[in-house]
Amino acid sequence: MSRFDLVIFDCDGVLVDSERLVVRVEAQICAERGWPLTEDDIIREFVGLSDAAMRSRLSELVGEPLDDAWHDEYTARSRDALERELGAVPGVAHAIDAIEAAGLATCVASSGSHDKMALTLGTTGLYDRFAGRIHSATDPEVVAGKPAPDLFLHAASHMGVAPERCAVVEDSPFGLTAALTAGMAPFGFAGSVIPADRLAIDGVTVFESMDELPGLVLA
Ligand SMILES: [Mg+2]
Repeated sequence: MSRFDLVIFDCDGVLVDSERLVVRVEAQICAERGWPLTEDDIIREFVGLSDAAMRSRLSELVGEPLDDAWHDEYTARSRDALERELGAVPGVAHAIDAIEAAGLATCVASSGSHDKMALTLGTTGLYDRFAGRIHSATDPEVVAGKPAPDLFLHAASHMGVAPERCAVVEDSPFGLTAALTAGMAPFGFAGSVIPADRLAIDGVTVFESMDELPGLVLA
């Protein structure tokens, strides 16, 4: 018997390999505007945040308000990169199959909007298997985004599972902190853009490949 009844998957960087594409777009836009932010800065500051939280933090860092033209350009260019180049995270479909075959429930909880997940999960063939179990930081029940625990508590409540019976799979320190604060067991996937040493927060199980995940959550 597993310690868990539910495995909650983050979307970007866990189910779909989107972070490297979006980070590249953000770095290009920063360079064009003369903002001195490198890809490493962008990964450290923004990966795992909602668009709204990212916009507010970026505005702080560059010392100027970000207008709607910036937001429209960022959204359009990110979407274009995702439509052209996005793939599923290698091995994730098999990992989900193995976890569900063992009788655990699964769901998604993402800082991204439902529109963005319809695109990213849709183009990678993962949307249908999660339909009805997809939760977003933009849902009205979620007051504060990651690193606050609200989104994961909302997902667990919607799925009817107590927090201590939930595993959370995340690729960002913001998400791992949210899971810890929610009283859930965090598993840090180091196969996206954030390296293992930055995910190795106290209480987090770090892993490198989706092939390892079923063994970790079913143990
Ligand atoms: Mg993520």
